[in-house]
This record gives sequence, structure tokens and C-alpha cells, in this order.
Amino acid sequence: MDQEELQKIKQKALAEHIPIIMDDTLQVIDQYLQENKPQKILEIGTAVGYSAMCFSSFLLDGGRIDTIERDEERIKEAKENVKKVGVADKINIWAGDAVEILPTLEEKYDMVFIDAAKGKYPFFLSQALRLLSPTGIIFADNVLYKGYVMGDYNKHKQRTAVRNLREYIKEVTENPELETEILEVGDGLAITKREVHSRKS
Ligand code: SAH
Ligand code: MG
Repeated sequence: MDQEELQKIKQKALAEHIPIIMDDTLQVIDQYLQENKPQKILEIGTAVGYSAMCFSSFLLDGGRIDTIERDEERIKEAKENVKKVGVADKINIWAGDAVEILPTLEEKYDMVFIDAAKGKYPFFLSQALRLLSPTGIIFADNVLYKGYVMGDYNKHKQRTAVRNLREYIKEVTENPELETEILEVGDGLAITKREVHSRKS
């Protein structure tokens, strides 16, 4: 992987205000991947491919990332970027709306990274749980949304996003089959695994 090219892509994305993963968030996920090398990763929200390229260095041999993006300009750029960085064989970019693509997927993934339309997080969660391997993990970025989610914020154009992020957090923290941690890194990162121990009644 061409690190220098990757850094150039990162700087260009930052300059263009493309919302790529923040360094402290990436650090948390990288550490997990370092300890739990994945075979398959699903990403919802490719943008220009930056996070997918970062994650790709932790894949097991023959591993793959499927990543979904609906913006045509970004898809084009992401495709060029994965070639430039030399990881095109590991990253499969699905062009289209994740709301339509996710229900068509059938394979299991070791990790799902949710990083797309905030108003769709509850739907993305239901799909991520369907597609997650029993020992898999879900990372959801931007769940605290600039502090709006935990505040008493509710009259603004981001109202739908905030309501859906709150619903996401409620579901992952209250569902007894899931274990969730929410970190204040970046714009808020929710980390969800399936409860390991079977519950005795
Ligand atoms: N994961 C990237 C950043 C993604 S930014 C990184 O860290 O490098 C979020 C992206 O999700 C945007 O490019 C946006 O176009 C895309 N997106 C938002 N809603 C989507 C949807 N419903 N289906 C597919 N892509 C979506
Ligand atoms: Mg994000």
C-alpha cells in the first residue's frame, strides 16, 4: 500500500470538506483490527475511499472490503484512489443507495462500519445485524453528531438525523442481545458486539 499516496488523498479530502474518518476514531478501529484481523468488512459510506483503504491493511490474506456509496463523483474518485494506493483488489465499491443494496447482500461480515446518512442509522443497524458474523463488530461513526444527540436539541433542520441517531443508540444500548460502548472520539463512535454469554433465566 502506498502510504504517501494515501496521505495525499487524505489531505485533499480534508481540503474539500469531505467528511472522512477522524484520526482518533480511526485509531480506535485500527487497534481493534490489529487484534482481530478480519476476513470481510462491510462499509456503508465510502466517500473517496479513505477509511476503506486504511482498514484494508488489516485484512487477512484474501480478505475483502465491500463498501457502498451513492454519490457518483465520489464513486469515481474512490475507484481511482484505490488504484493509486494499490489496494483495488481488496476493495469492492458498490455504486448505489445503501438502502437498496444492503437487503440484497447475503454474506456474513466480521466488521460493519456505518458512516452514511444519519437519518438511516436504524435501518442500517437492522441490516448490519443481519449481515454480522456471530463474533463480529459494528462501528457506527457520528452517533453524537456535534453534541446534538445528547443535548435537548430538537428544532432544527437536522431534527430527523438527531431523532434517528437517538433511536440507534437506544436500540444498541437497550437490546439485551447486544453489548455497546459509546466513545466520545471524533463525532461519537458506537461500538456494538453481540452479547457473548447466553443469559440464564
Ligand atoms: N467512510 C468515509 C466517509 C464517508 S462520508 C471515510 O471515512 O473516508 C459519508 C458518505 O456516505 C458520503 O459520501 C455520502 O454520499 C454517502 N452516503 C450517505 N447516505 C448514503 C446512502 N443511503 N447510500 C450510499 N451512500 C450514502
Ligand atoms: Mg463519519
